[in-house]
Amino acid sequence: MASSNKFFVGGNWKCNGTKESITKLVSDLNDAKLEADVDVVVAPPFVYIDQVKNSLTDRIEIAAQNSWVGKGGAFTGEISVEQLKDIGCKWVVLGHSERRHVIGEDDQFIGKKAAYALSEGLGVIACIGEQLQEREAGKTFDVCFQQLKAYADAIPSWDNVVIAYEPVWAIGTGKVATPEQAQEVHAALRDWLKNSVSADVATKTRIIYGGSVNGSNCAELAKQEDIDGFLVGGASLKNTSYFNELVQV
Ligand code: PGA
Repeated sequence: MASSNKFFVGGNWKCNGTKESITKLVSDLNDAKLEADVDVVVAPPFVYIDQVKNSLTDRIEIAAQNSWVGKGGAFTGEISVEQLKDIGCKWVVLGHSERRHVIGEDDQFIGKKAAYALSEGLGVIACIGEQLQEREAGKTFDVCFQQLKAYADAIPSWDNVVIAYEPVWAIGTGKVATPEQAQEVHAALRDWLKNSVSADVATKTRIIYGGSVNGSNCAELAKQEDIDGFLVGGASLKNTSYFNELVQV
């Protein structure tokens, strides 16, 4: 097993699902036997958060997949942190690679979003990760440290932050990082936190891995010393057997 931090498993449903499929997913989650000492969070699309909140066991917390950078108002199409809290969200996923590389959010904007969400009491799942060409160019650490620094520069505290290391080349591709590849980056991230923030933050901040995690590969990944959990996309939509695998490791 990894460090002594409480294991954290998040299901990121992305822009998927219908009222019907989500009813089924929630029913499966409600029936799942979850280990007591694992935090479990799901991130439904905004429009289904209320449905999920009203039907899902309180044992599982709800994350939004994004939030507005400041207080709500005249920002057409955005969802504010205040609104997310109002409908029962406890967490928000920020800096996901799809927001960075498809929508075009930059490090500073993401850092500001994290700071605002934290200031309003939401937990932040702070995503970072390198693209394939960056890995191939030997820039994995540089890219990850730069993204991490943007969070560090913006936020006052790491108390309510979970870092999600998600190599972009592993997301949705079926090409999971090897346990060694993931561990190498997680250890480097923890070292960066130690040197740039504090030893205490480095020890206590959970660093979870995301990118093609499923019921078959999670056990080996979870054995790595610096892997404190997972952010799961595709496999979180299929059935709950992955949760059973993930939380029993
Ligand atoms: P994946 O997605 O598990 O489908 O690779 C992970 C994520 O994007 O968080």
